[in-house]
Amino acid sequence: MKAYLIKYGEIGIKGKNRSMFEDTLARQVRQTLAGLGEGYTVSKERGRIYAYCPDDHDEDAVIDAMQHIFGIVGICPVKIYPCTDPETLRKDMCGYMDEVHPDFTGTFKVKAKRINKAYPMGSMDTDAYIGEAILEHCPGCRVDVHDPEVLLDIEIRDRVYAYSRVIPGPGGMPVGTNGKATLLLSGGIDSPVAGYMIGKRGVILDAVYFHAPPYTSERAKEKVVDLAKIIASYTGPIWLRIVNFTDMQLHIYDTCPHEELTIIMRRYMMRIAEHFAKEGESIGLITGESIGQVASQTMQSLLVTNDVCTLPVYRPLIGFDKSEIVDISKKIGAYETSILPYEDCCTIFVAKHPVTKPNLNIIRNSEMRLGKKMEELMQTAIDTAELVKVSGALGKSAGRRAYTR
Ligand code: ATP
Ligand code: MG
Repeated sequence: MKAYLIKYGEIGIKGKNRSMFEDTLARQVRQTLAGLGEGYTVSKERGRIYAYCPDDHDEDAVIDAMQHIFGIVGICPVKIYPCTDPETLRKDMCGYMDEVHPDFTGTFKVKAKRINKAYPMGSMDTDAYIGEAILEHCPGCRVDVHDPEVLLDIEIRDRVYAYSRVIPGPGGMPVGTNGKATLLLSGGIDSPVAGYMIGKRGVILDAVYFHAPPYTSERAKEKVVDLAKIIASYTGPIWLRIVNFTDMQLHIYDTCPHEELTIIMRRYMMRIAEHFAKEGESIGLITGESIGQVASQTMQSLLVTNDVCTLPVYRPLIGFDKSEIVDISKKIGAYETSILPYEDCCTIFVAKHPVTKPNLNIIRNSEMRLGKKMEELMQTAIDTAELVKVSGALGKSAGRRAYTR
């Protein structure tokens, strides 16, 4: 039988929180693997999570699925042997080396842990005994107890569990262990990365997208849904609101100085996002803003944008350079979709020289001119917003059923 030991970060997670964290993670692993087929079981044993898989399972698919589950730090493929006697263990571990590290000539260390006290050899004696066997069995290899290339962990329980490979997981905390926030999701590079980063801290995501038909196309909207799917492949289903922003944008365009268009638009986006956030019981907003990236993201612009929000606005990319954001975007599989060349509503109604140091009072005054009509348009935008439930299923994870909340 084949199993995977799932390693997760434990620092700072104690008491009740720790078991909530573990139970949530185990449940998400269970639901994710159920999406791959029959015969998978997941269990919590001695502060560890194990996933047991059918013999003919697709290892790549299992690893890919687990690399989409926040909270997992490492994925260790484990081989399981009957627990009998040291002589059999010796043969089994030489067989393990042949199978997992064929023609091994590097450095290694054996770390045995005897949990089953009926087994006749202690942990340290087993280290030496198996170490010697491997030295004999794999000519050219050496022991290095400080920095081995291969660390062979052997857990002697009712059966013997051996593993030496640790495949990195995404880290973070299981989604659902940290409240809910609403992501302002555009078709760009930044906001999907921002959503990923907050989701990684265990936060459930809802999202809002503003479009401006017919100035923005159906393809631009589909692209945003695709980006939401990519994020949802990590965070579980996302409820996405698609807001028609056209009439509001046209009214701003007709009424306000053009260099103020972007900043006023951004304030209305935040107002509407906050409305939906509160309705859906989110306790924060998320944007992909980064200081100084564009005119609407100078410190002064952020101050003016923030002025309309009562919920905290999380901006996980605030101190990142674009190249750093691009690296994460590529790593999470969003980049290729983000760079598809469809228009965004922000870029269509943009002034040649937008203000970079907006004055809050001046912007508030400009907004006064929008009058009651703007309130009505905003209400209509809210009332007519489309609601789509987006589940993650892309690429290699296509078979995976995104977990429920
Ligand atoms: P992104 O790459 O995320 O689109 P950007 O560099 O294009 O960001 P802006 O257009 O100034 O920057 O947008 C800043 C943030 O405002 C975005 O990261 C996103 O969170 C939000 N935002 C911008 N446009 C939209 C939109 N059409 N719908 C929803 N949110 C948006
Ligand atoms: Mg954008």
